[in-house]
Amino acid sequence: MIHGGEFDNPLGSATVPIYQTSTFIFENADHGARCFSGEDDGYIYTRIGNPTIHALETLVADLEGGSEGIATSSGMAAVNTLYMALLSQGDHMISSAAVYGPSRVVMEQHWARFGVESTYVNTANPDEILAAFKPNTRLLYVETPANPTMDITDLQLCAKIAHEHNALLVVDNTFCSPYLQRPLELGADAVFHSMTKFLNGHADIVAGMIITKDKALGKKLRGMMVNMGCNMDPHQAYMVIRGVKTLGIRIERSQQNALTIARFLESHPKVAWVKYPGLESHPQHELAKIQMHGFGSMISFELKGGLDAGKVLMNNVKVAILAVSLGGVETLIQHPASMTHSKVSHDAKVKAGISDGLVRYSVGIEDVDDLIDDLKEGLDKI
Ligand SMILES: *Cc1c(COP(=O)(O)O)cnc(C)c1O
Repeated sequence: MIHGGEFDNPLGSATVPIYQTSTFIFENADHGARCFSGEDDGYIYTRIGNPTIHALETLVADLEGGSEGIATSSGMAAVNTLYMALLSQGDHMISSAAVYGPSRVVMEQHWARFGVESTYVNTANPDEILAAFKPNTRLLYVETPANPTMDITDLQLCAKIAHEHNALLVVDNTFCSPYLQRPLELGADAVFHSMTKFLNGHADIVAGMIITKDKALGKKLRGMMVNMGCNMDPHQAYMVIRGVKTLGIRIERSQQNALTIARFLESHPKVAWVKYPGLESHPQHELAKIQMHGFGSMISFELKGGLDAGKVLMNNVKVAILAVSLGGVETLIQHPASMTHSKVSHDAKVKAGISDGLVRYSVGIEDVDDLIDDLKEGLDKI
């Protein structure tokens, strides 16, 4: 996290310089031709490649145990690059029902217009995945822990099932970061991040990254990213490199806070239920212990007073910020049914377990006592 990432360093810079340039000068006409033919790996044009972006791509690819990193302008750019590269007209995708809202909306409302089919199941239940396979299924797309239900899907099992059916497994690893979960090591073909969240960690950049182990697959995805034009900007890359340096200590602190807060909420009389993988009451706590290297800092819960009580809480917390996004140093609180998942149909939300009263809480690195006092004061107002 601190020393990784490849970059040429003729002047001995301690950090990765920002190559804020759109294009690169060739030594002569033959050199330009060699760069284009691939005989020379010199830089050509920033949409195709840039040294600052390359440093971030090699850094995150290493952390995920992959060989290729493909940086994108946002997490959604990574999602659409994957859909575009891996699915053709007439193909079918199986996905977790509880996924990041727009990942589902773009598939059902837009990719469907081009003849791509999709089925949404609870991927935490392997029988539901098996039942959804069709002869044209090419992709199994999983988010674990799921957003916002915190259900956990067995990635090793999914890789086996996907490969037996001649399909690829893609994992959205945004909720964990490679510090807590490395899907490529469990058999996934590609993993991606909204680096807007944990990897950058400071709520000041939107960015994405796809990582593969297989070089040919990485090349195919890079070609798609380049031609769709959803590349990252060098300054964005610099900011994420800076964020990744503290990923480990940020996650250690925020997940320690999260366990304390999840236990506090679970014992509070106004709380109906809490879902956090680190609680013994989480239905897949044992799987989380095996698959993840820690339980992360995302908590979902519902108050006994449902949505009305949740609104009172959200309107009365002062340390936690009422905002979407997650994985930053600051604690955030939001209401998925009316915010991040508002464009997902009501039926789909019910089936995915996204109840109207569910509140999502992303724990930051503040002093845990401040966060608990903040929640106590908010809950007292109900
Ligand atoms: C935020 C998010 C995305 C989308 O990423 P952007 O950077 O906002 O485009 C995808 N998946 C998950 C799990 C997310 O939290």
